[in-house]
Amino acid sequence: MKVRVGINGYGTIGKRVASAVAEQDDMELVGVTKTRPSYEAHLACAEGIPLYVAKAEQAGDFEKDGLKVEGTLEDLLGKVDIVVDATPGGVGEAYRPMYEKAGVKAIYQGGEDHGLAGVSFNAYANYSEAWGARFARVVSCNTTGLVRTLFPLDRDVGVERVNATLIRRGADPSDNKGSGLNTLEPSLKLPTHHGPDVQTIMPWVNITTMAVKAPTTLMHVHCIIADLKKEVRESDVLAAWDDVPRVRLVSGKRGIKGTANIMEFAKDLDHHRGDFMEIAVWQDGIKVAGKTLYYYQAVHQESDVVPENVDCIRSMMKMEPDAARSIKKTDDSLGIGK
Ligand code: NAD
Repeated sequence: MKVRVGINGYGTIGKRVASAVAEQDDMELVGVTKTRPSYEAHLACAEGIPLYVAKAEQAGDFEKDGLKVEGTLEDLLGKVDIVVDATPGGVGEAYRPMYEKAGVKAIYQGGEDHGLAGVSFNAYANYSEAWGARFARVVSCNTTGLVRTLFPLDRDVGVERVNATLIRRGADPSDNKGSGLNTLEPSLKLPTHHGPDVQTIMPWVNITTMAVKAPTTLMHVHCIIADLKKEVRESDVLAAWDDVPRVRLVSGKRGIKGTANIMEFAKDLDHHRGDFMEIAVWQDGIKVAGKTLYYYQAVHQESDVVPENVDCIRSMMKMEPDAARSIKKTDDSLGIGK
């Protein structure tokens, strides 16, 4: 029997997770909630995705706009085994009592605190920690990116200390509010929260981070300096990432000089919505000097967490005990790694 999944919050992350869930042969997308009859609600309806409203009083607006509403979030919760909460950061907390009352499991996103779920998740690093859990949280796009490359490095080589500077996109591409057009805005609260967030998955890692918001919407870029436990060659570093799913080496020499090229690459690969769910590491931007490793990586903020949500469902619903098998199943279904 397929696991029945609902999505609360059909925005940037919610609509992508909904599409990914719909691709899984062991899951059924039962419905999604919207708060307004936006174009995304119309698209969902046209694709045959059952629409629910977060609150009963919102239904009238949808019906006036010609959209069929199947019911409220409460009705949706009555039909699912697990809900993916992709409401804006900080909003999901208020829904926890409702999820508990309905007896459904829930996955939160990186905008919520670790304490809300008690388990923070990355498929490659700690799949089994979410096994059977009632609540879990898929960490943010940046934390997912840092864990994807640091975890295998720590496992194979050993990481003594990490210093990372995050050049963050100012806004999502569809965000009308955005950030300043002609400014670089450093995070003044230091070190930034990204280090402690990595430690929700790798508590043993000594990591500090800084961040600067940049006037770009395409991707984040991380500049990482890692002090390793032993002297290595570049080939040892590449070997640590070689068999790791969701990390992809790119090359400046082959024309991928910046984030715009990665986004074009994603479109050339015919990725749905032009997404790039892997973490791109510049192979010709890796430098090893003694025990110190320098590298750059790029993170597609809207999509790297999407396959993690799918694997988190499998772990929480006890559908597949083997992390590697779940990851492969997800990646094959979404065209990741091709
Ligand atoms: P978003 O604003 O694009 O989408 C949120 C959706 O929730 C919208 O459709 C909105 O209408 C709906 N919504 C608002 N209030 C609601 C409520 N009370 N009940 C139900 N639905 C409600 O947000 P997003 O960017 O998709 O972010 C969702 C979560 O994912 C956040 O925790 C965020 O931190 C995290 N996240 C975002 C990104 C990113 O790049 N956008 C990356 C990784 C993680």
